Amino acid sequence: MSKPAFLRYVLPGLLALLLTACGPEDQAGSNAAIDSSKTYNWKMVTTWPPGFPVLQEGAERFAEHVRAMSNGRINIKVYAGGELIPALQTFDAVSQGTVEMGHGSAYYWAGKVPEAQFFSTVPFGMTPRGMNAWLYHGGGLELWREVYEPFHVIPFPLGNTGVQMGGWFNKEINSVEDLEGLKMRIPGLGGKVFAKAGGNPVLLAGSEVYTALERNTIDATEWIGPYHDQRLGLYRAAKHYYYPGWHEPGTVLELTVNKRAWDSLTPDLQAIITHAAESENILMLSEMEQKNLAALKELQARDDIEIKRFPDDVLARLQSMTEETLAEEAAANPAFKRIYEAYQSFRNKDDAWTAISEKSYLAIENN
Ligand code: CA
Repeated sequence: MSKPAFLRYVLPGLLALLLTACGPEDQAGSNAAIDSSKTYNWKMVTTWPPGFPVLQEGAERFAEHVRAMSNGRINIKVYAGGELIPALQTFDAVSQGTVEMGHGSAYYWAGKVPEAQFFSTVPFGMTPRGMNAWLYHGGGLELWREVYEPFHVIPFPLGNTGVQMGGWFNKEINSVEDLEGLKMRIPGLGGKVFAKAGGNPVLLAGSEVYTALERNTIDATEWIGPYHDQRLGLYRAAKHYYYPGWHEPGTVLELTVNKRAWDSLTPDLQAIITHAAESENILMLSEMEQKNLAALKELQARDDIEIKRFPDDVLARLQSMTEETLAEEAAANPAFKRIYEAYQSFRNKDDAWTAISEKSYLAIENN
């Protein structure tokens, strides 16, 4: 969390806690708000299928850490998508206070809040390293909180998928023309860019992806990365596995908390949730990286699939179509434009630094 957010959300509470804790005996009445014997039984709903590895499991691990650190004063029962409410009603359920917490990703609410997409991922956008720098220390989280404020929802970054894979195709992609007329499961802004390239983006739930590809109802699909893609068996349905995931270069996952529920918590419990979310943000990303590197090795050992990089020309064309798409969205929507400009301003500086730090270092291996 950056300093302004810390000052705004956590420090006032901590000061209040300190003042009341240090106050004389005759002011004990003012301690009523900090009743350490009070327990909170909260519900969290997620957008993930039951038992979904890493993502649903990470949300459950977060809840367990909060319970342990609060000595059982806050108990969060985690429900997968559809167990309590439909997956894509998570944001509304938190907004309306039907439940206290949600876990998902901000681009799921693009229909309601288009600019929220900048807090998950955008095509050719920042990787997890840049996103964490922007959100925690570059003003991104403050903007995110402003965007969710009218909905009485407080967001926290909680997890990241890492750079995704480009997807599974039933034919080789040698030029942008090869995308024309292709039916591909690719959601969000990536889907809009794909349509600009002449493709036909299709929306499908995760549970339908394998069958659609296997039966040639679609020609291609993206999903997540090697680990989740392998579990879904996608290598049995298409032979060409492309990288990188230009459309999702590191999707930020979010914890959402109902504002009224948050305000009802004592400052120590707010601090526990804040830091448990920061901790799980890195735990989930690092687990994803570990599982992906292991699954990639297994997929590389298979002779029946080809793992290939999109041609440079295809990536360059998709990147310029992304810039057009974002400019069109910004021209039509001032709220989108405001967040886009803030994102781009940070991103330009991040690009300059990355070029001489991580990118430059990693290029050594390729020489
Ligand atoms: Ca994806």
